[in-house]
Amino acid sequence: MIRLQDYTGISPKTDLQLIYRLSARLSRKRFLHINSTKSGGGVAEILNRMIPLLDGLGLVVRWEVIEGDQRFFTITKKIHNSLQGLQEEFTDDMWAYHYAVNEKNAKTLDLNADVIFVHDPQPVPLIRFRHSGLWIWRCHIDVSNPVENVWERVSAYAGKYDAAIFSVAKFAKQMSIDEFIITPTIDPLSEKNKDLTETEITEVADRFRIPRDKPILLQVSRFDRFKDPNGVVRAYRMVKKYNDCRLVLAGSSATDDPEGDAVIREVKEFAGNDPDIHTLLLPAFSDKDINALQRMATVVLQKSLKEGFGLTVTEAMWKGKPVIGGNVGGIPAQIINGVTGFLVNSEEGAAFRIRQVLNDPDMAKGVGENAKQYVRNHFLITRQIRDYLFVWYAMLNKGSTVMEL
Ligand code: UDP
Repeated sequence: MIRLQDYTGISPKTDLQLIYRLSARLSRKRFLHINSTKSGGGVAEILNRMIPLLDGLGLVVRWEVIEGDQRFFTITKKIHNSLQGLQEEFTDDMWAYHYAVNEKNAKTLDLNADVIFVHDPQPVPLIRFRHSGLWIWRCHIDVSNPVENVWERVSAYAGKYDAAIFSVAKFAKQMSIDEFIITPTIDPLSEKNKDLTETEITEVADRFRIPRDKPILLQVSRFDRFKDPNGVVRAYRMVKKYNDCRLVLAGSSATDDPEGDAVIREVKEFAGNDPDIHTLLLPAFSDKDINALQRMATVVLQKSLKEGFGLTVTEAMWKGKPVIGGNVGGIPAQIINGVTGFLVNSEEGAAFRIRQVLNDPDMAKGVGENAKQYVRNHFLITRQIRDYLFVWYAMLNKGSTVMEL
């Protein structure tokens, strides 16, 4: 069981001190997180790690997951896409179903808590069933340029919350409720991020039949069109004319994402029978395998066209890798171009940066070291716990002019 003390010497000391003080103030309060999946994707990833740590600090924290059928998740996927700007067809029936599934969940879920965190648009209508506590909408996606009528529907619910939290300032929409910015983070002690021995890394390479005879380009992500897996294959093909290398595309489809299987088929077909392209379908909870893949990579790509925060970028940076990321979403909040990684806007740009990194290992090493340091200072789980506790504390003490810690 991991405790906060285990982060001593890893996380910044000031974050740890603040967490101890705040949790002592909040120890008698009850907290509840609600989202729509226990596994797959960044939200579940963070909750899975954060809740046991909060428990260890003596806070009462529960995590509930709303249940829905395929129709519900098809609708919520469309809502998710439209909030990120993609045009989708909606009917009144679909919105009614979104509400009805939440209404059904509200009857079975225990919504009693002092602070209720509702994650993303799938469970956002639950606010209609509030009977107590402070309700905070935790929005992980970029809603800065949504399809307007979809935002109107979602904000009719979201605007009823007491506050909203966004992952990066530029993702936020101006709302009439309190708004906070809290970037997501990774856990350096998790299976996905802890140090591995060379033997452990080799075991994973052998099991996936990835020879380590040439540089490895890697992208780990859900098979989702916004992650642009085909664009990655095209960039690899441009590089391959000059630099011999392998491409590993590793991912799964989240349980709340019905489009995943179609995207996997497309990518496999597009990759063809190139023996240097490895398309790996990972089962849920492949954390140690992902860790090893990131550590064996020479360059890590996250060539997203749209992105939430992009935790895979943080993970690879923490492993000291040069990361080449799409200039979208939360990726520029992590990658300072040319310093902690590289930002790209096209397949050609990605190919150019990949070649630069492959041809200059000293430069690649320096960028990787900067990346790791940047994550240590800004994107470790302890900083996020600190911020959540602070928001809870600030909201519960709203109205008092002095907040004594
Ligand atoms: N991930 C995983 N299995 C996969 C693909 C991704 O466990 O097959 C993890 C990945 O390591 C990261 C998270 O899921 O921790 C994805 O978060 P990110 O913010 O990159 O993207 P999202 O999936 O939330 O859009």
